[in-house]
Amino acid sequence: MKLAQRITRIKPSATLTINTKAQELRAAGRQIVSLAVGEPDFRTPEHVCDAAKIAMDEGFTRYTPVPGIPELRTAVAGYFKTFYGVDAAMENVVVTNGGKQSLYNLFQVLLDPGDEVIIPAPYWVSYPALVQLADGVSVFVTTEPQNNFLVSVEQLEAVRTPRTRCLIMNTPSNPTGCHYTQAQLDAIAAWAVDKGVFVISDEIYDQLVYAPAKPASLAPWWQRYPENFAVANGLAKSFAMTGWRVGYTLAHADLIKAMTKIQGQSTSNICSIAQKAALAALTGGWECLTPMREAFVRRRDLGLSKIRSWGHVVCPEPAGAFYLFPQVDWYYTPEVPDSTALCGLLLDKAGVALVPGAAFGDDRCIRISYALDDETLSGCLDRIGQVLHSLK
Ligand code: PLP
Repeated sequence: MKLAQRITRIKPSATLTINTKAQELRAAGRQIVSLAVGEPDFRTPEHVCDAAKIAMDEGFTRYTPVPGIPELRTAVAGYFKTFYGVDAAMENVVVTNGGKQSLYNLFQVLLDPGDEVIIPAPYWVSYPALVQLADGVSVFVTTEPQNNFLVSVEQLEAVRTPRTRCLIMNTPSNPTGCHYTQAQLDAIAAWAVDKGVFVISDEIYDQLVYAPAKPASLAPWWQRYPENFAVANGLAKSFAMTGWRVGYTLAHADLIKAMTKIQGQSTSNICSIAQKAALAALTGGWECLTPMREAFVRRRDLGLSKIRSWGHVVCPEPAGAFYLFPQVDWYYTPEVPDSTALCGLLLDKAGVALVPGAAFGDDRCIRISYALDDETLSGCLDRIGQVLHSLK
């Protein structure tokens, strides 16, 4: 079958590949636990589901304005006021099919062919593909576990060229869980403004930041320099709403119009029912997030102590999201020389599905999602430790 070059250049998602292998083993009767999932294991809060049911019962089932219903866009603007003291109008918000479409549309409207995007590595798997789909060029900057996988201004400046158009920041991070303080983010933002680099801030995990760390955002920088920043976020991770597909972008009104144009010619509005559910989430109080946050902190602590007990592993304490990203390359051998081979072995010998660090641009590491119950998590980490020790 002849396909366009565009699609042949794009790599398939590593997460999906590992999940397919896990399913094959399950079909063959093996017990496989997945620590490869990128979604909370909690139910969507009741009041959010109720709002969707009411929307259906009331016949709220037709097309809506492409960038979202005005109440929801206003509620998103209110979110930035509540958490970051930022004054935004509905015109600064577009509601998208998940955070992913926010990022897709942003790159489509910001990049000309050959424009460079700086991506600190390890990075979320989709960034390079999203840049490629917009004919941009990804420029990676490697960060180190010893520095909590955080990028510095010096490192960014070292890779800046006249073609640099954007920098993508993600805090807390998928896959590392590491989180910038507001002061660290401010330093990077000041550099970007000075050098005329547009910053896309992927803040999809901003509600999953664990004390004593505090949420940090580039929204206040957008307020000061609206032509220099855009913030992408969504409800998938914070409200356990991955399947509902609700994301949004905060940006300059012209950028929002451009993104709406793309959306209007491709996917139109997101599901009308999901919009009513999202409105209920954003206006229904934040207490429902507390138990989820508490469970994640407990599992992070449990996971970290198990991982550190393996020895010869570097794993910074994540301040957010629900991932651990240990550096395990001390255990590599000629037969198991990289993260992909190691994850294959762990699937086979420990019955645990993990995403190799290579998928996130760091072959020294493996990604462990702790979005599952404490007991299962604990058992999986013990088995991973045993397999690692059998290698050396
Ligand atoms: N950004 C990051 C860092 C993510 O981890 C994800 C989902 O895994 C997304 C964006 C996209 O989220 P959504 O499900 O809202 O499209």
